[in-house]
Amino acid sequence: MDSTALSLSADLTLSSILIVLWLVRREDLYALLWGGGQILISLATLGGPVLALHSPSVRGLLMLCMVLGIAGYGFGTRHFCGLPLHWRRGALVLAVLTPAMLVLATLSPALGRNAAFLCLGGVLLWSALQLRRCDRAYHLLALLLLLRAMLNLSGPLLLWLNDSIAPILALGFLLKTASSLGLIHAVLRESQALFRATIDGQGNGFLIRNEAGEILAANDKFAQLIGRQHAQELLGRNINDIASGRSAAKAHEWFLRVTAAGAQIPLISEDEYIIRDGQRLPVELISSPCRIRGQLSVLTQILDISQRKQQEQALVQAANIDPVTGLFNRPALQRHLQTALILSGQSASACSVLLIDLDHFRRINDTLGHSVGDELLRLVGQRLRKLAGSEDVLARFGGDEFVIVSSQLDLAAAEETATRLAQRILDDLRDPFELPPFRVAMAASIGIALSPAHGTDPENLLRAADSGMYAAKDSGRGRLKVFEEAFNTLARDALLIDEALQHAIARNEFRLVYQPIVEARSRKLSKVEALIRWSTPRLGFVGPDRFIPIAEESGLIVEIGCWVLQEATRQARSWADEAAGPICVSVNVSAAQLVDPDFLLLLREFLARSGAAPDELEIELTERVLIDEADTVIRVIDAVNAMGIGVSLDDFGTGYSSLSYLTRFHLQTLKIDRAFVNGIERSERNLALVRAIIAMGHSLGMKIVAEGVETEEQARMLTELGCEYLQGYLISRPVPAAEIRR
Ligand code: C2E
Ligand code: CA
Ligand code: CA
Repeated sequence: MDSTALSLSADLTLSSILIVLWLVRREDLYALLWGGGQILISLATLGGPVLALHSPSVRGLLMLCMVLGIAGYGFGTRHFCGLPLHWRRGALVLAVLTPAMLVLATLSPALGRNAAFLCLGGVLLWSALQLRRCDRAYHLLALLLLLRAMLNLSGPLLLWLNDSIAPILALGFLLKTASSLGLIHAVLRESQALFRATIDGQGNGFLIRNEAGEILAANDKFAQLIGRQHAQELLGRNINDIASGRSAAKAHEWFLRVTAAGAQIPLISEDEYIIRDGQRLPVELISSPCRIRGQLSVLTQILDISQRKQQEQALVQAANIDPVTGLFNRPALQRHLQTALILSGQSASACSVLLIDLDHFRRINDTLGHSVGDELLRLVGQRLRKLAGSEDVLARFGGDEFVIVSSQLDLAAAEETATRLAQRILDDLRDPFELPPFRVAMAASIGIALSPAHGTDPENLLRAADSGMYAAKDSGRGRLKVFEEAFNTLARDALLIDEALQHAIARNEFRLVYQPIVEARSRKLSKVEALIRWSTPRLGFVGPDRFIPIAEESGLIVEIGCWVLQEATRQARSWADEAAGPICVSVNVSAAQLVDPDFLLLLREFLARSGAAPDELEIELTERVLIDEADTVIRVIDAVNAMGIGVSLDDFGTGYSSLSYLTRFHLQTLKIDRAFVNGIERSERNLALVRAIIAMGHSLGMKIVAEGVETEEQARMLTELGCEYLQGYLISRPVPAAEIRR
């Protein structure tokens, strides 16, 4: 085979490769143009030696092949470089070039051949220059094209020096082969670069891993997500070792899920990566299977979803957490209680529910404002958190109510465990809370319900705890009560109470009991406090702590208070008539009563009608009354004083902490709230506070009554501190009038 045939077959092979490339990737039109161009040129070149032997039409056809081939090169290069193809301009050039070449070839075959060499050389030179301007990946190809251009341009000279075309063909063949390789190299580099740019340009992390977890490809974004710098450091490493929070078994299971036949692709799942410093990064994985060199692999996009998770978390928070205390809210409690009850049922253990209601919390809100009230609730929540067990569920149930659920308790010991916890809470809350510039002591009433004894569903159990809580309040607040069937009266329902109160006076359902107040040193009876009691056939016994706030709300308190005053003055008169002499009766007066325009009138009328002396009557006001409508109140107090009736300040210490405010009112007695008295032996703070209250009260010329004295120890300490009067269960519980003399 001579050199021409060899060169031609090599040309055809290389060209076919290019055309096949185009067949595979139609967008690579340049491959077709180059390949096709090369074939045409080869045909023309092969035909060259026989050009002279044939008819002018064959010659013309061969020249046309040559010109079209050269044009193919030109267009191919333009397409390769991404330049517009300008078909029309190309056609124009062809229209001029083809006849010109034909004329030259007709004049002399050598002339035609040389012209073809020069044209092809020109196009190759131009192509080389175009490619140089392209990406660096094409520089090698450009160089090879340049060499080919040189060869073609110097073709006429070489032929002149040495008549044989064989060396030129051989050299051309070498250069063509090399430039084909150069092209493959460049295209590969380009597609690699494109791949890199595609994965690097993604806003998300990108990863290809094989079945074993080995990272085959990744982008920098992924590297950064897991706390590294460059994707390069990750290649070849195992994803399960460097980031995934999944166990190897779980990771493999996931891989099988993605690659399973018929799997929904892309598969979207969530995972948690553990990144460099042990931090957890929640991620979403969008995965699909792929094959890399026959190896089944998974291609995954990784999205950082920590923000989404935070938002979800915030929504969960909002739906479950009380914003003031950070404890569970009511709906969340209900769910947790439900779960606890199911678990307890399964394990044959008990569950306890403590319903903790702060005594007089409304007063804090009313006198110190809601922000102080909220802060206090937060602090109470904190203390409860410390006291409750780590497994206990703690919730704010409503305004000033908290609930603690303890589960998995021993059936036999549940009541004792719950009671012990409740007692600890009562003791702890008595330690005053620091709310600068205030200092507030709290008492609470706690109802305890146990499952399965008092109910096995959340609703019944909470209702039982609620009954217990009201029973605790009715028995004098600051205590705890375990639910008993007997508590289960209808008395809990404020609406029922409100309705029943309307007829209470007419039906003669109220009565007064009296609690002695004695001189601290001699323990001689000094006066009594009148305390109202109410029983109805329908609701049973309802404590004043329960119904007085309802009556205050509805305004009925004015009417009820009237009845109390009338009854108390009548009783005072009746004692005065006895041989043992008169007893002063102290009557609780609510705010609405005091500011009622008829109050003074009624007071006078009751005294006159009963014939009781003014010094046989006293009234008790709370700090709240003083703050609400100070000017009216000052006027009324002065008028009451002018009538010769004494005024006591009740429940001192639970609301307002500044005595200086009180100098505006003319009060004769100050009653220290039982919340302070109760903790006096245990708490240094309470002791200091009681001491300060006594000193301040004395400096304002007031006598001091300590309320809620329950032990001898308290009585002794209070007496030593200079307290003039004592009141409390130690001396006597509130009793009917007939028992007072005893
Ligand atoms: P208060 O004025 O602070 O009355 C004293 C309360 O403390 C009474 O509760 C009394 O039973 C209770 N108590 C007395 N000694 C002790 C003790 O040693 N320990 C304990 N833990 N408690 C003791 P009661 O009778 O349930 O009255 C509750 C509240 O109802 C009264 O608190 C008062 O604010 C209101 N209240 C009672 N009767 C009337 C009334 O006729 N009119 C008005 N407006 N309010 C009344
Ligand atoms: Ca009182
Ligand atoms: Ca009191």
